[in-house]
Amino acid sequence: MNLDLDGKVAMVTGAGRGIGKAIATELACGGGAKVAVLDRDYEHALEVAADIACGAKGFRIDVVDGAAIDACVAEVEKDLGPIEVLVNNAGITRDNLLARLTEEQWDQVLDVNLKAAYLTMKAVTRGMMKRRSGRIINITSVVGMIGNKGQANYAASKAGLIGLTKSVARELASRNIRVNAVAPGFIETDMTARLPAEAREALSAQIALGRLGTPEDVAAVVGFLASDAASYITGQVIVVDGGMVM
Ligand code: NAP
Repeated sequence: MNLDLDGKVAMVTGAGRGIGKAIATELACGGGAKVAVLDRDYEHALEVAADIACGAKGFRIDVVDGAAIDACVAEVEKDLGPIEVLVNNAGITRDNLLARLTEEQWDQVLDVNLKAAYLTMKAVTRGMMKRRSGRIINITSVVGMIGNKGQANYAASKAGLIGLTKSVARELASRNIRVNAVAPGFIETDMTARLPAEAREALSAQIALGRLGTPEDVAAVVGFLASDAASYITGQVIVVDGGMVM
């Protein structure tokens, strides 16, 4: 599909690897967007941007730092131009059963997976509202819809992200800003590589299409939501899980 994002600026958090890197690649190479590759490690952000090679530039950001987010948005807009597409992809897990789940594990996951999306959207939508144009895609998870043992913090953060997405979609629709979420299922990345073999097998058995997803499977849907082809879609959660949750 021609995403037709020619010259539009897209900012992707957690774009150094996994799903975020695939999204940055899709928006730049599939869509012709000018992509800001955001990573906690500046050198790595530069390397990934150079790898993408069809219009990406690296920037440093740690999404738990609100002041740094404001500064990064200003830097991206100064370098590349007004941000038209924001993808909140950065995410972490700190799994534990409720009885052992520490406050630190709770706070870390909520800060990166949920609070950062609020901060980033707040920073980016100032300009989008003035320009009356923007597309935001938040990467949630099917776990935020159905829960998962040992992931109360992660599931709460991802469910919260769905509520945040829908609320902001309602607030900003009149300014021509679309806000959607993508909920991946079980995707092959570093995040899922840590799962024990037994858990991987049990999860795989639940996937109707009979295979794990790839980062590119998710990136294709993000590209669609960022494009004009999705111009009548806002406030939605698109599940990309091979039929794991129906
Ligand atoms: P991943 O390979 O672990 O990559 C996570 C990315 O987030 C990394 O680039 C990481 O940067 C970045 N990140 C973490 N903390 C950050 C912070 N404080 N500031 C800035 N960046 C930070 O994970 P993934 O599988 O690609 O997941 C991407 C997104 O998809 C996450 O939101 C995840 O919850 C969601 N998701 C994944 C799956 C799956 O099956 N893989 C399923 C559903 C949803 P560093 O390299 O610096 O750590």
